[in-house]
Amino acid sequence: MAGLWFTEKQTENFGITIKVNKTLHTEQTEFQKLDMVETEEFGNMLLLDGMVMTSQVDEFVYHEMVAHPALNTHPNPEHVLVVGGGDGGVIREIMKHEKVKKATLVEIDGKVIEYSKQYLPSIAGELDNPRVEVIVGDGFMHIVKSKNQYDVIMVDSTEPVGPAAPLFERGFYQGIYEALKEDGMFVAQTDNPWFKSDLIRKVSKDIKEIFPITRAYVANIPTYPSGMWMFQMGSKKYDPLEVDAASIPERETKYYTPRLHGAAFVLPKFVEDMVK
Ligand code: SAM
Repeated sequence: MAGLWFTEKQTENFGITIKVNKTLHTEQTEFQKLDMVETEEFGNMLLLDGMVMTSQVDEFVYHEMVAHPALNTHPNPEHVLVVGGGDGGVIREIMKHEKVKKATLVEIDGKVIEYSKQYLPSIAGELDNPRVEVIVGDGFMHIVKSKNQYDVIMVDSTEPVGPAAPLFERGFYQGIYEALKEDGMFVAQTDNPWFKSDLIRKVSKDIKEIFPITRAYVANIPTYPSGMWMFQMGSKKYDPLEVDAASIPERETKYYTPRLHGAAFVLPKFVEDMVK
């Protein structure tokens, strides 16, 4: 194959390869290898430690599906926390909810924010919104010192390796429980059922021991490992399955819809068995 190709190995024996037109920026930050590349198929793309984080073409799926199910379930999500999410995509989606008075982003690597603003402006554009507070720091430490503060918490972290490893431990979910208000809820991206079933089972077991209501849903993200991505929720009071789709306002989205809200929680059998 002529030209330059980036390959992400998703297991030892399987991966995807993407044609790269040019490298826009590359550096070893304090936390990870950061590459921003222009790809033929998916536009500009952020890679961290050789893993696809987000791309201009398919980013809307992930960012809409992290933000809207929870924000359409909690009746009054005034204070929202995003752990990770330095590309700004989840923040952009949160800003579509007028009930949100303040969204706090805690991203450990300031370089992700800097280069997302420079090369992914359509994703990072709301990071300067006056309703947004950006903190460069460790989400785990932020959660530990935040008690009874947030209505909704969204964990938009990298894979459970490197700086994000603590964000998949039971203690972190316990910390989230304590950082949430009495009727709060959280959602976390929890990788894919094809290659990370053990992680999904572990997270499901942990959050079931901590939260009275737990739910899981999937979405199709072509540039993520296997293309099937999973999200898990823990809630103290509100159940996403009890939301009447007719009460969900239509917003400017390209993947999520009020009709898809409930449907997303209907899992394929092999995935359902993982979170039972
Ligand atoms: N959508 C991507 C995925 O599913 O892998 C995640 C995108 S976002 C770029 C992930 C962010 O989590 C990265 O910018 C990374 O620096 C950040 N991160 C990793 N560990 C963190 C921690 N302990 N505290 C705060 N942010 C962290």
